[in-house]
Amino acid sequence: MIKIEDLHKSYHMGNNSLHVLKGINFHVKEGELVSIMGSSGSGKSTLLNILGMLDEADEGSYILDGVPIKNLNEKVAAKYRNEFLGFIFQSFNLINYKTAVDNVALPMFYSGMARKERVEKAHHYLEKVGLADWSHHLPSEMSGGQKQRVAIARALASEPKVLLADEPTGALDTRTSYEVMDLIQGINDEGKTILIVTHEDDIAHMTKRIVNLKDGVIIDDSPVEQVRAQQYV
Ligand code: ADP
Ligand code: MG
Repeated sequence: MIKIEDLHKSYHMGNNSLHVLKGINFHVKEGELVSIMGSSGSGKSTLLNILGMLDEADEGSYILDGVPIKNLNEKVAAKYRNEFLGFIFQSFNLINYKTAVDNVALPMFYSGMARKERVEKAHHYLEKVGLADWSHHLPSEMSGGQKQRVAIARALASEPKVLLADEPTGALDTRTSYEVMDLIQGINDEGKTILIVTHEDDIAHMTKRIVNLKDGVIIDDSPVEQVRAQQYV
């Protein structure tokens, strides 16, 4: 599903440059649930943003579901991004003046889906994340955990091949984090490929494989015995 070979990325600021990713090699198969760990500043978000086609590497190759991701024009990149990828962020990134159902339906509006279909789909995915009764509420009326569930429903609604989550539990208390991980594990059980950036060890152990980044290289990449979040919620 994802093949990354010898990936490099630097940031340039005036005369200074910062070499953030220094030769990353990393393959992910369909159906995997992988965490990317590393201390703050180790390049986790940079890597996830490249995987999410929100940024481009300087060197190396990236193949997503058989498609080489390189030098795509913005229109083609946007098409692949919509087709292949769903995003979940630490800060939820919901639109505050839109209800849950409208937040979930909005990306489908941009991809040209008819209103009836996108509203039906939005309700379906809100039900899937346990928020059927909250569809007409605004984000300001919801808890952090509920907001992240709306964001997960929004990511799922486009039926992406891969879900990318950058510290999805970073703004949540422990119990709520485990509830969100329980949901993510259930989505992975159904076969969805999911990558999660986290710096929390307990969250990483709820995935099936931990990739450790340090100083721009992968220092460890190992399968783990998955801890089920269900037992804590
Ligand atoms: P992490 O997500 O692991 O905390 P990041 O990938 O966000 O790390 O950042 C890695 C390094 O790159 C950090 O030193 C950060 O300050 C720097 N960095 C990230 N984004 C930019 C940018 N757009 N311009 C310049 N430096 C950046
Ligand atoms: Mg980060």
